[in-house]
Amino acid sequence: MVYKRKKQHRGDTHLKKGWRTKRRKKDLDEIDEDLKEQNVEQLLNQEVDFDKPGSAQHYCIHCARYFVNETALQTHFNTKVHKRRLKALELEPYSIEESERAAGKGNYVAPQKRKIETVTKDSLNKIDADVEPDIKAIKLKE
Ligand SMILES: [Zn+2]
Repeated sequence: MVYKRKKQHRGDTHLKKGWRTKRRKKDLDEIDEDLKEQNVEQLLNQEVDFDKPGSAQHYCIHCARYFVNETALQTHFNTKVHKRRLKALELEPYSIEESERAAGKGNYVAPQKRKIETVTKDSLNKIDADVEPDIKAIKLKE
């Protein structure tokens, strides 16, 4: 016997889900703010917080999500959700300045496309390592 009632209408739960705040994550323009250099370092090196998953030590900036451990974070980087998010972040977020320019204040500049790459603690350290030889070179000159 198949116990299945034929659904007469779909309701509005799919709409309500969009308004819910329970699982609400940061919006794309907020993440864009996080991606600025001074914020990136702070977000990747957070203090140990036992209330957050993985004590807030494994964070994906682009998706604004905490992960339990390094493996989970690394596997997340290879998932569709993460790649889709990188793609979505490529276009500059809509700003008040853009709306003003569109309304005739100054010249209109179309939003720019940028290349977004996954930022991790390791990639941050690599950038630091690249900078250091220059500092050494300057010191030698003196
Ligand atoms: Zn991610």
